[in-house]
Amino acid sequence: MTKHIFVTGGVVSSLGKGLTSASVGMLLEQRGLRVRMQKLDPYINVDPGTMSPYQHGEVYVLDDGSETDLDLGHYERFTNSPLGRESNYTTGQIYLRVIEKERRGEYLGKTVQVVPHITNEIKNAILSLSGPDVDVAITELGGTIGDIEGLPFLEAIRQIPLEVGKENCLFIHLTLVPYLRAAREMKTKPTQHSVGQLREIGIQPDILVVRCERPMGQENLEKIAMFCNVEKRAVIEEVDKTLSIYEVPQGLVEHGLDKLIVEKLGINAGSLDMDEWWDMLRRIRNPEHEVTIAVVGKYIEHRDAYKSIYESLDHAGFSHSSRVIVKRIEAEELADQGPEVLLSGVDGILVPGGFGMRGIEGKIEAIRYARQCEIPFFGICLGMQCAVIEFARNVLEFKDANSSEFVDSTNHPVICLLEDQKTVTEKGGTMRLGAQPCVLDEDSLAAWCYGEKEVSERHRHRYEFNPEYKSQFEDAGMKISGTSPSGTLAEIVEIPDHPWFLAAQFHPEFKSKPLTPHPLFRGFVEAALKRHQSRVHVGL
Ligand code: GLN
Repeated sequence: MTKHIFVTGGVVSSLGKGLTSASVGMLLEQRGLRVRMQKLDPYINVDPGTMSPYQHGEVYVLDDGSETDLDLGHYERFTNSPLGRESNYTTGQIYLRVIEKERRGEYLGKTVQVVPHITNEIKNAILSLSGPDVDVAITELGGTIGDIEGLPFLEAIRQIPLEVGKENCLFIHLTLVPYLRAAREMKTKPTQHSVGQLREIGIQPDILVVRCERPMGQENLEKIAMFCNVEKRAVIEEVDKTLSIYEVPQGLVEHGLDKLIVEKLGINAGSLDMDEWWDMLRRIRNPEHEVTIAVVGKYIEHRDAYKSIYESLDHAGFSHSSRVIVKRIEAEELADQGPEVLLSGVDGILVPGGFGMRGIEGKIEAIRYARQCEIPFFGICLGMQCAVIEFARNVLEFKDANSSEFVDSTNHPVICLLEDQKTVTEKGGTMRLGAQPCVLDEDSLAAWCYGEKEVSERHRHRYEFNPEYKSQFEDAGMKISGTSPSGTLAEIVEIPDHPWFLAAQFHPEFKSKPLTPHPLFRGFVEAALKRHQSRVHVGL
């Protein structure tokens, strides 16, 4: 029998529900349980694929090509839960299903309503996670208690215990206890209100995870327990972690959260095995080296837009006992001020993915600087396309080289629309998406990093390296070191005559985990470290 855990959030958004849910998933897995994770998002977009990174942060792509919420990135980084289309539902998706059923006449003439039809569809989505191979399904509800659009989801999760048995369900509510500087006091009232609202809907949380910037003290804890009708030991304090998000599980273990969950759900679980994780935390806390990587992008002021890239850099750093300092550089500013001003002193340069023309010239300048000054360079998706354009303009001397995404009339469209994108008209879910095999040239930096001949990586793009230019690039020193199995699509390019210059059409950042950093990120950070050490050596 699959047990269900529901994670809701109150008081304010951005409390780290995703991280807490992922941490709970990990703790249960490390007690030998088989876990599935799921996120329900109350917004109306069918998926976040069409949303701006400013609105929504990064779009996280899964193997099966679904474009999902960035919390799924936390799930993959913390757990081994297999994720797919069923792992992320939005209001838009739920309504789409109901409306399609209605059009097919499946409701047999009934009036189709939020309750029960929408709520039933949500329940189906949740229950689709259960199965003989799943011990615990964790469903996180996006948004904050009190949001109008979240109500059908709350109603659906309220009904689940009636179907699967109260003893098989557990409600965890995440709240905030703010510290008011003027009053020099921590305030529990917002938490009381938020739990009050949940109880009005008919949900009594079993466990409260309380975010606070400093320990809240026994008195506040007792107050919360009494007013919220929750056992004292089930009020778990989660004090802000400033060093790393990977410290979150430790605090939860110290407060006995895994034991409490297992006990409340009546699960027979093994003992907790976190040795490798604790060992990693020790390395995070005591780094032996330091390295500075510039990330040159266009959504730079929005921390969540390149979330997985920043995480992957950290992971690579952990494996080299190294702290990675990220210098976030706005590409347009770089175009104005020049690379010498903004990039001097960095040990590596990364240009991430993106869409649209803004910032392109700054990214190309950064790549030129990396290539000419022999600074380790890593390009990802649009970052690879910019590397190809830069090489075409400055080495092949095709001065107007461009991507047809930006300038259709160029004489040298070195990046062009993928053949099967030419007939695509709809925007949602129509890019080249998800896991694709990539065959590596055995004598390449890529093969050296991976230690394999064939890999699988996740994609999200419409444009590609124009194959007509292949031999000109190769003759001039840019090698295509990874291709689709038929050899038609260029997936990786590199410059062998450079300390570390590699760019990939795919998104390696979606496959990096803290304990198993992605081989390309590991190789890139290692090269940056070498550069750093040699600079220190010569006193630069
Ligand atoms: N805009 C480019 C394309 O569609 C790159 C996409 C990306 O970086 N994810 O091909």
